[in-house]
Amino acid sequence: MRFKRNGSYTLNRKSKTKPNGKKTPAEEKKHYLEPEYTKVRVVDSDLKELVVLPREIDLNEWLASNTTTFFNLINLQYSTISEFCTGDTCQSMTACNTIYYWYDEKGKKSKCTAPQYVDFVMSLVQKLVTDEDIFPTKYGKEFPNSFESLVKKICRYLFHVLAHIYWAHFKETVALELQGHLNTLYAHFIVFVREFNLVDPKDMCVMDDLSEVLCTPLPPNAQQNHVTER
Ligand SMILES: [Zn+2]
Repeated sequence: MRFKRNGSYTLNRKSKTKPNGKKTPAEEKKHYLEPEYTKVRVVDSDLKELVVLPREIDLNEWLASNTTTFFNLINLQYSTISEFCTGDTCQSMTACNTIYYWYDEKGKKSKCTAPQYVDFVMSLVQKLVTDEDIFPTKYGKEFPNSFESLVKKICRYLFHVLAHIYWAHFKETVALELQGHLNTLYAHFIVFVREFNLVDPKDMCVMDDLSEVLCTPLPPNAQQNHVTER
């Protein structure tokens, strides 16, 4: 596990819900779109209301606090499947038909495995959110001019990590019974980045089908399958 921030986090490896239905590879790949899974969420509060800037809070403070929280949660969600995301299983950073390449600080493009890419993302974001000059926490310290563009960059990378978890590790997430958490985290994140235009819709279109389903409130009769089994 990478970047483990919570030492007591354990994986439930003995899950009984291992999926093994017979499907075509394409159907198999979009396992996460099956209603059985998309209706499973931890909470069904009004996410839109949750992300809107509260009147008394400074915009940059709000963006900083939410971005840091999403970084921690996405990092933790990835850590639950990270042992299945190896240089062998995921030779490139994929989500649907897209391969993400890493661009270093000098703008040099390189192809890397998914775990390397996630490592690069998490190291970079960790560095940024803990940099007092970029994410100031001390009273009276100003946010830099580049703050918004850095938040956008972070959100774009975090989106790639979420997309990869769905695309390549949804089965493992289901086996760990964490799909409700993943769906809720994803929906909250998407509603947040849409509210503040933090990720270009062109970047997010690879997951539009899922975003459509998850960011639409459930009809009242579908809510009986709420995650309550834990
Ligand atoms: Zn992977």
